[in-house]
Amino acid sequence: MIPYGQHSIDEADIDAVLDTLKSRLITQGPTVNAFEQAISQRVKSRYAVATSSATAALHITCLAMGLSSNDIAWTVPLTFVASANAIKYCGAKVDFVDINLSDGCICIQSLEEKLLNAQQKNTLPKLLIVVHYSGISCDMEPIANLCKPFGIKIIEDASHAIGGTYKEFPVGSCRYSDATVFSFHPVKIITSGEGGMITTNDKALHEKLKLYASHGITKDANKLTENMPPWYYEQHLLGFNYRMSDIHAALGLSQLKKLDSFIESRHKQADKYITELKELPITFLNVPDDVKSSWHIFVIKLDKDAPITRETLYIELQKSNVGCQVHYIPVHWQPYYQGIGFKKGDFKKTECFYNVCLSLPIYPSLKEQDYVIKALKNLLG
Ligand SMILES: *Cc1c(COP(=O)(O)O)cnc(C)c1O
Repeated sequence: MIPYGQHSIDEADIDAVLDTLKSRLITQGPTVNAFEQAISQRVKSRYAVATSSATAALHITCLAMGLSSNDIAWTVPLTFVASANAIKYCGAKVDFVDINLSDGCICIQSLEEKLLNAQQKNTLPKLLIVVHYSGISCDMEPIANLCKPFGIKIIEDASHAIGGTYKEFPVGSCRYSDATVFSFHPVKIITSGEGGMITTNDKALHEKLKLYASHGITKDANKLTENMPPWYYEQHLLGFNYRMSDIHAALGLSQLKKLDSFIESRHKQADKYITELKELPITFLNVPDDVKSSWHIFVIKLDKDAPITRETLYIELQKSNVGCQVHYIPVHWQPYYQGIGFKKGDFKKTECFYNVCLSLPIYPSLKEQDYVIKALKNLLG
């Protein structure tokens, strides 16, 4: 089966991991710091904090922003469940803002309407997690302008979007947000095995994130109660072990060196799909002019006049050994979320999108793109 997504690991990556394995520190050593610095340099943020996953990163970013059981937070329903789960981990109430059919990202008009409604009902959220669907940055400037008057914090879930840009700025620069979260799961653009990263320009938030990622413990002499012995450490809040190991960081750091070439190869493949498949009864995502997508996934939407259904297309592609995937089953359709009060029909644009979308294979080591294109032409031509 040709997978829809796949990591690309080379000898340099393997050597980097082996070097770390042979070194004195395999966790909490120098490589995590080096990876953090390399990421913040790359995305032009002031700070970066490595974590064991993007899910962990989202969780502690919400906590560090003070999200608690008295609060509400919003995200979108067209995402992986982790974006919403992070809110629930904090005990807060979750609600969703619908998306654009054109690009799968948060709909600015829906956000504006929901904010006005929430203002009247006194149910404004403490924070909003937006998702850069497929690698396309959300339209961050109007989002920031809408949220600022209400003091709503903004987290970018950029699990799909490292290497992308918005208005000439790298995703992760946090120009229009308080924090950005990346994932280094093997299916994403670059991998550390498992891993995540938070970038921010907020010094206080950065310090809090560091604490939350490691049991709430500090050894910083400036932060300890005065006149403590030299072995002393203190726990200042209830944190977690959400640290990244140096082994993982070594892989991530080595992969980061290839980010540009990975993005270039994804762009070539996306361009080829768009050129070769443009006659078929499908629609591609619209990438706005001021956005450079990272093309984490290549999503097609099946038109109404297509000769077969999305389900048949999925099944027939699988039969031809072409792995594809549906991104995503709406989060509010999950039994857990139905159990806390959401219903089918609650977010219509997300549901329309879900009904027609399919993600095709795209990744640097994909050798069989011509075969995938032929299979699609056979089924939809
Ligand atoms: C993959 C993904 C996550 C979770 O990432 P992990 O590193 O696996 O925890 C969160 N949000 C989105 C949008 C994702 O695609």
